[in-house]
Amino acid sequence: MSQVRSASVNDPIQRVIAAAERMGYTHEARLGWVLNFVHRDLSMLRAGEWLDLQDDLFVFSLQIPPDGIKPSTLQRIRYPKKVGHKALRTVQSQLKKMMEALVVRHGYWAVPPTIGRYCLDRSTNGSITTGFIHEGSMGFTDTVVMAAINALTASQQRIRQCIECRRIFLAVRRQVYCAPVCSQKARTRRFLKAHPEQVGSASSPAQG
Ligand SMILES: [Zn+2]
Repeated sequence: MSQVRSASVNDPIQRVIAAAERMGYTHEARLGWVLNFVHRDLSMLRAGEWLDLQDDLFVFSLQIPPDGIKPSTLQRIRYPKKVGHKALRTVQSQLKKMMEALVVRHGYWAVPPTIGRYCLDRSTNGSITTGFIHEGSMGFTDTVVMAAINALTASQQRIRQCIECRRIFLAVRRQVYCAPVCSQKARTRRFLKAHPEQVGSASSPAQG
């Protein structure tokens, strides 16, 4: 059987499930996904990737719990026909502003004026999730932003800014660097500061 790409599947439910599998089912997994999205260079996306991104953002906005999509959620799914690139860029810039305000500046951020319908959803474990219901592509940004607020609130102690490259990331325990490459850079710099005679010796012989 040939490989089925999510964007080529016409059935919205199948697309939703494929995107949910890519993303994971916890607020934490969604926060990790949204941080990658915020840092992503959208100018590099090909046509199929834009469609996958729309699917991912749509599924992100559904905030599917670990026990799967409830029938009531499935019933109210209104899959947006096509969300334009401009709207997807707007979503990205809203999320970026939100993360920067809260994580970088430790400040205040207000949800932009909304056109979605506010809703509450209680899962079987008793937790209540807030969200928006959107109508087609109307209010798409609202639903995504609300999901990001929930994901961020749920993992607020784990969200940090890398002390080397300033990237916002989801930390494990006391992690302060976003990736090994950043901790290595810092370690190298500390070493060279402590051993100035080593500068340049790795790449070229000492000049007389
Ligand atoms: Zn970093």
